[in-house]
Amino acid sequence: MREQAARERLLRADTEAVILLKSIQAELGSLADAQRDVATDDEHDPEGSTLAWERSQADALRREAEQRRAWIADALRALDEGRYGRCASCGRAIADGRLEARPWTTLCVECAAKPGMGGHH
Ligand SMILES: [Zn+2]
Repeated sequence: MREQAARERLLRADTEAVILLKSIQAELGSLADAQRDVATDDEHDPEGSTLAWERSQADALRREAEQRRAWIADALRALDEGRYGRCASCGRAIADGRLEARPWTTLCVECAAKPGMGGHH
């Protein structure tokens, strides 16, 4: 029962990530168009650097969403293999509240807080 809820949560999170990725890709596409227009007008237009900054922001968001999808895929595999909800570092059960907020997490709160364990988890 609990696993079913976790699976639904992960699938929902994955759908959200896909929707997010689509909107980011659309934004990157329109930014690329805008940048092309700016470049044609004047290479040294300050607007060009704003666009470059916006692109790098959107790019970072895209990487984050892609990373999240990879984590979600890992978590779904862990569910199938019956090791979901266990900390990958210390092996203890991850608190329900944490799994609700970040269903793709592989670390318990204590381990996630340790330096060098990757703050994203
Ligand atoms: Zn742990």
